[in-house]
Amino acid sequence: GLEPLSQRDESGDELARRERIFASAQERYYDSPMQIERGWRHHLVDTTGRSYVDMVNNVAGLGHGHPGVADALNSQIRRLNTNSRFLYRELAEYSERLLAMLPAGTGLDTVLLVNSGSEAVDLALRLAQAATGRKTIVALREAYHGWTMASDAVTTSAFDNPFALENRPDWVHVADVPNRFRGTYRGAESDRTVGQRYAADFGDDLVRLGAEGRDVAAFVCESVLGNAGGVLLPEGYLADVYARVRAAGGLCIADEVQVGFGRLGSSFWGFEESGVVPDIVSIAKPMGNGFPVGGVITSKAIADALASQGQFFSSAGGNPLSCRVGIAVLDAMRDEGLQQNVAEVGERLSAGVRELAERHEIIGPIHGKGLYVGVELVRDRQTMEPASAEAAAICERLRELGVVVLTTSERSNVLKVKPPLTLSAESADFVLAQLDRVLTEGW
Ligand code: PMP
Repeated sequence: GLEPLSQRDESGDELARRERIFASAQERYYDSPMQIERGWRHHLVDTTGRSYVDMVNNVAGLGHGHPGVADALNSQIRRLNTNSRFLYRELAEYSERLLAMLPAGTGLDTVLLVNSGSEAVDLALRLAQAATGRKTIVALREAYHGWTMASDAVTTSAFDNPFALENRPDWVHVADVPNRFRGTYRGAESDRTVGQRYAADFGDDLVRLGAEGRDVAAFVCESVLGNAGGVLLPEGYLADVYARVRAAGGLCIADEVQVGFGRLGSSFWGFEESGVVPDIVSIAKPMGNGFPVGGVITSKAIADALASQGQFFSSAGGNPLSCRVGIAVLDAMRDEGLQQNVAEVGERLSAGVRELAERHEIIGPIHGKGLYVGVELVRDRQTMEPASAEAAAICERLRELGVVVLTTSERSNVLKVKPPLTLSAESADFVLAQLDRVLTEGW
């Protein structure tokens, strides 16, 4: 049912068209971007017929053009799409399916559905403030949590928000980012004192906040530092910090928008990697495989605190269409064994990058797990001077060679690898071969 390429208008300059009607703050990729025409699994095809391996799309977890999602959308929109104040089966069914994905006995038994990650984080913050009767939210430095007023207020990445560390609302406190590769405390993965030292500093922050009459309502963080490039939290850090937050009467929010939902391979949720259970979980991106779906999972007691602020309602949140799509996504993840694929192909990819690092000095720390991998590029492995310009040029050259990959982190020197979970071993090998070629030939 796709329109043939030849019938399309290729003459219009899409880039100029975009620049005419978009705000300058609306980001785009590449200096001279290709025009994408269609996608299939982890591949993208441009209007000239060239195909690319898509190594960045963590929204299309199942891959592009998934037939199960297409069928779910098509059949449901013909039958019913309405708002969640009505009674219909899909809402409860999807919510139950989501809850079934959480580890047993966690007390996380209540779902609120919205339409995006920003909304999910926003709602998580509101829930925490309502449940504790406090205002202060502690976020980690260098984090991205969304664009709405509240989720942006806890977005501490200076790259995403140049005013991040100034003009921040007084209900936000920014704690140090526990990056053992280039942060305040550094050390090997096996060095447990790194996590302990960051957690101790965090505890000092909590004490200071208490003394200032700003007791913590909640701590929000990604269970793996996504914006920093998939940096894994130091051993023991999250459990220690969660315990300190709870001892101070606060709640713990896990932002799983990027790192949850099977992406790490070894576990469905990022927080499981640290052996903790959050009080509130925010989710979005891959839930709808591109269809806008977001959600918050928490306990009934916390969710019911919202009643003190009146009713909660999102017009499109939890509608039958998004629920049906969400169910189709969970079905496909199970039926296609995607989490298993993530574990296998992710390990192959990371092992391949480690092997390249033996020959290419520019590769510094290799972050992440499963299909969230960050390849940090540095000019010097000792000083960790970021190879930011090189990273940008390498991405441009990789694009010419058929690989879509982009940079992240405050220093834009980490190749951010987060492809659809369908990535095959063959495609992973292709990507590694192209990276090897660029690093060998120059960029
Ligand atoms: N939290 C995290 C960790 C994210 O990475 C993002 C999006 N990049 C968001 C929240 C916001 O999600 P959305 O763009 O769907 O509003």
